[in-house]
Amino acid sequence: MITKDCTCAQGKHAAPVDGYLIDAGALGRLGEFIAPYGRVYMVADETTYRVAGARVRALLEEQGKLFSCLVLPEHPLPDYTTFGNILVHLNDPKADSDLFAPSPLPDLILAVGSGTVNDSCRLVAYRVGVPYGVVATAPSMDGYLSAGTPALFDGTKATIKCTTPRFLVADTLILKDAPWEMLLAGIGDMFGKYTGLLDWELARDYRGEYYCEKIAADVLAATTACLENGARLQERDPAVIKSVMEGFVVTGLGMAFTGTSRPASGAEHIVAHTWELQDVKAGRTPNLHGLEVCEATRLIADMYLTLRDETDDAHLRTLIDAYAPYFARVETFCAENRVPAPVRDETRIRDSVRAALNLRKRYTILYYLEENGQLDRYAALAAERLAKKIREES
Ligand SMILES: [Zn+2]
Ligand SMILES: [Zn+2]
Repeated sequence: MITKDCTCAQGKHAAPVDGYLIDAGALGRLGEFIAPYGRVYMVADETTYRVAGARVRALLEEQGKLFSCLVLPEHPLPDYTTFGNILVHLNDPKADSDLFAPSPLPDLILAVGSGTVNDSCRLVAYRVGVPYGVVATAPSMDGYLSAGTPALFDGTKATIKCTTPRFLVADTLILKDAPWEMLLAGIGDMFGKYTGLLDWELARDYRGEYYCEKIAADVLAATTACLENGARLQERDPAVIKSVMEGFVVTGLGMAFTGTSRPASGAEHIVAHTWELQDVKAGRTPNLHGLEVCEATRLIADMYLTLRDETDDAHLRTLIDAYAPYFARVETFCAENRVPAPVRDETRIRDSVRAALNLRKRYTILYYLEENGQLDRYAALAAERLAKKIREES
């Protein structure tokens, strides 16, 4: 468990995470993290097995800890099939069944992968009451230390509350070779913290919502480290990958510490979620989460900047002024690195703003604008400008 004394209303923070390691060659130290556990059930998919899974399996076999190993087909989705697959293979092939005892369980479920593999192991581990840990294979999204699993079920996609992994091991020498779009998605997901944090400040000052200054400051610093190191992302510099992974850890811990997703997400994540839901309902494969968040961050930032120019509220202007330089630098990064924008249609971008307002009752700039009768005008303006920039960049 990681604990931290704080000056906020909660006084003290705790997260059920035993530790994490983000470094070049970190996989070589995985043994330290699995030492407290006996039998380990390892889950990977075909891609992550190639990238890191085979090495992890060899280590588990060498230590006599392999309970069983499941390699999911390529590109699994967080759905009934994957959850069922993990559950069915959660079985010790060497154990005889005992009619009078429950099924033997492993001491740890070890997810080797990002996204779906990690999310699905979290859900199954939580349901059967076994701790789990994760070996990262791509720095592509901020959910590694999340306590929730985004799952496709009952015809929609929603987050199921679970718990965090006990540990995270991220070897930057492996992560740096992830596909380029995944690297962009990872840093793009981090950029979303700027609008997310500003929304949190807005909720604090205009709704009296709980806010933790220390955690917000940690997330802001981690995000800015990503932005500053971002220029070396194209070189696949392990130090840049490290700052992105550290950003995920800081925001993941921030969520666990505060018991809210405020440190990780605001209106930009809700807009990205509406795009994702539209794809799920239409039967299309959803885009990379981080790329959608990055695009939505640009949209929400534009709305904030218009608000700064138009508002008579001096306090609100001060809040936005603190973030405006970051918004400008995110724009520069996206243009220079040609960050793909998954949603290109201006009307779809515009309409997603109102859809996001209705999707989640969380106080953000969307609520502020709606209460001031300005939401639709701002959405139209921001969508028009963003769609134009996207056309110019491609
Ligand atoms: Zn605090
Ligand atoms: Zn995210």
